[in-house]
Amino acid sequence: MADRDWEAEIDIWTERFRHIPDPPAAFANAIRDGWNPEDRQALAAEAAAYAVRHEGWVAQIIGGDWDLVRLDLRDPCGACVRYGGSPYSLSGATPDLPPSPPLPICPSCRHTLNLLTPFFMQSVGTHPEDLAAEAVPYEPIED
Ligand SMILES: [Zn+2]
Repeated sequence: MADRDWEAEIDIWTERFRHIPDPPAAFANAIRDGWNPEDRQALAAEAAAYAVRHEGWVAQIIGGDWDLVRLDLRDPCGACVRYGGSPYSLSGATPDLPPSPPLPICPSCRHTLNLLTPFFMQSVGTHPEDLAAEAVPYEPIED
């Protein structure tokens, strides 16, 4: 994936979060008080570091010939919450499922993709044939 420009994304998301319920705390504060340059820079650096780690993790999963994942939320904002629990196909090997969203979706959230192994699916009562119905395709926000 092409490198994302986090400084630019923070500007874009600051505008978006004016119209999205439950913005992340950092954005809610920035919308109220304006960005503190140090906080903004730290958020951009954290998002960039997370994206790099995430890409490495995805490469490992695909390298291990695994395709099915689920997006698990951690303290989601109003933009990210709808994708929680959705199954995705990492490599496209499962044509019924959409590709996973780019993580981080917004600069603040740190959600994770977890493997949907047969053992895990059995333990949570999910059947592989039901996954497509549970999928929430990622739709980038149109500004
Ligand atoms: Zn978010």
